[in-house]
Amino acid sequence: MSSTQIRAWSPEAVPAVARCGRCRRALTGALYEVRAREGRLARCLRCALIYGSLVRRSLAIAFVVGTLLTAINQGNVILRDDASLALAWKIPLTYAVPYCVATAGAILNARSKQVLLASHPEHSEGSSAPVGILHPLQNDNR
Ligand SMILES: [Zn+2]
Repeated sequence: MSSTQIRAWSPEAVPAVARCGRCRRALTGALYEVRAREGRLARCLRCALIYGSLVRRSLAIAFVVGTLLTAINQGNVILRDDASLALAWKIPLTYAVPYCVATAGAILNARSKQVLLASHPEHSEGSSAPVGILHPLQNDNR
């Protein structure tokens, strides 16, 4: 008798897998909610990190906070016109840090454990909701 067994395929044997609404990758780990006009959309981490609204917000925060921190930390050097080559890496890092912090905060806040009922074939029949739109659990009070 062979140690390799071939199992017959059946819909019950295949677990329903939630998929990213953008790249269609299976969301086996965490999924991330992004807000859009259609509702809350499910994304994988990579697609959430490049989501336009999140990137624009993080860039705006980085511009404001980076400019303030540059003025506080390097303002005297810049005003004296005594800028050294060290500022070439200090100033970009001063803008990069608030961008990373804002993005990390948004991503951690967008992390969700909600189920994607619309992406499960057995729940999407008769539903007009597009695949990837989040449906809250019954006891979810948000
Ligand atoms: Zn994705």
